[in-house]
Amino acid sequence: MTEIASAPAPRPPARGPLISADDALARLLAAVVPSGRIENVATPEAWGRVLAQDVVSDVHVPPEDNSAMDGYALRIADLVNGAGTLLPVSQRIAAGQVGRPLAAGTAARIFTGAQVPLGADAVVMQEVCEAIASTGADDAFGSVRVNEVPAPGMAIRRQGEDVRRGHVVLKAGHRMDAAAIGLAATVGMARLHVAACPRVALFSTGDELVMPGEPLPPGAIYNSNRFMLGALLRGQGCVVTDLGNVPDRLDATRAALREAAAGNDLIISSGGVSVGEEDHLKPALAAEGRLDLWSIAIKPGKPLAFGAVRRPGGEQGAETWFIGLPGNPVSSHVTFTLFVRPVIARLQGAQAQMPLPIRMRADFAWPRPDRRREFLRVRRNADGGLDLYANQGSGVLTSLAWGDGLADIEPGQAVQPGDMVRYLSLAELAP
Ligand code: AMP
Ligand code: MG
Repeated sequence: MTEIASAPAPRPPARGPLISADDALARLLAAVVPSGRIENVATPEAWGRVLAQDVVSDVHVPPEDNSAMDGYALRIADLVNGAGTLLPVSQRIAAGQVGRPLAAGTAARIFTGAQVPLGADAVVMQEVCEAIASTGADDAFGSVRVNEVPAPGMAIRRQGEDVRRGHVVLKAGHRMDAAAIGLAATVGMARLHVAACPRVALFSTGDELVMPGEPLPPGAIYNSNRFMLGALLRGQGCVVTDLGNVPDRLDATRAALREAAAGNDLIISSGGVSVGEEDHLKPALAAEGRLDLWSIAIKPGKPLAFGAVRRPGGEQGAETWFIGLPGNPVSSHVTFTLFVRPVIARLQGAQAQMPLPIRMRADFAWPRPDRRREFLRVRRNADGGLDLYANQGSGVLTSLAWGDGLADIEPGQAVQPGDMVRYLSLAELAP
């Protein structure tokens, strides 16, 4: 992420200084260390998990030279008449079978995936061959007219061309997607050492919040962050303990923190990190652990709280990390994506940097940029550009549900249609 170029905003005394998103992320990643808890799981169960050890192959893949085609294995030198040479077929080798060394002056009928017989130096696909049926017991496999002279090695998959024995095929820190699961299996790994799932306690704050399914009294809104953040955490492979909604009271907030600290690696909360009279996280954290309140020079998502809560029950020196996200739902989501996601990756021992943003064409205008770096809700269109959601308010969750990514706009950078902007894919970052 790039630095903020514009002059710092006036500094509200009760909050920390305005810091850049890069600085905030760097501070988080410098503080949080991997949990170090490791599990040994069956390979299919490793999907979405982070490798705790390198995967080293004990085998070559393929283990031996094998055929990439259904056809005939032969020695090119035996095609004495060039294209059109007739060769007797001396054996038939199906996938899973091991043939005999190829007799001189003959071809072997061979099928995709079958081991190439010793002595053969090419496979000619059956589409350019003419099979001539057997005429009796002395030529049980008949013969073949080979209508094309192959290049040496044609249609042969070489031993070890995919993986060499002894090579690292997947490194510790790799998140196991479907292809990685396949690769681990292809080198014969039945079980894998992976980082234990981070244990995350989640709570929302706010007396105005009621649960979906309940009536909506005057002054109330439905609690969306609790559900959205739970889904985001599960999408990052966390085991979530949902502590529900905490009333805007100091004692309740302190009790929630104590409960959340026990047995968890990380606490995530939403709301209550401004410095309004009803925002109790700061004094609660001061009593139960420690806290920094940051103002990050981004929009949406300016306030962020980072700290740690002492674990009860004498877990010596042990603390649980705490990140307090802003209450506005879009701010909550964006700060999760930018800051919590890399912290979770770090807890798992995975690569934690922001992915390289893709440069895409803005098919919109953004004439009045903010002095803070902005993350606009956008969607890719069929012409290879980005459309902008009209209402970019930090409470407008529709913008995120509609969008598939964030346009990362430099402070003070006006955008004209046709300009190239940086695009972060939410499908990739916050599934
Ligand atoms: P706060 O950060 O607590 O001052 O909240 C900022 C705004 O976000 C207020 O309008 C809250 O009503 C709203 N808000 C806070 N928490 C939630 C939540 N869990 N779900 C939906 N909106 C929320
Ligand atoms: Mg609140």
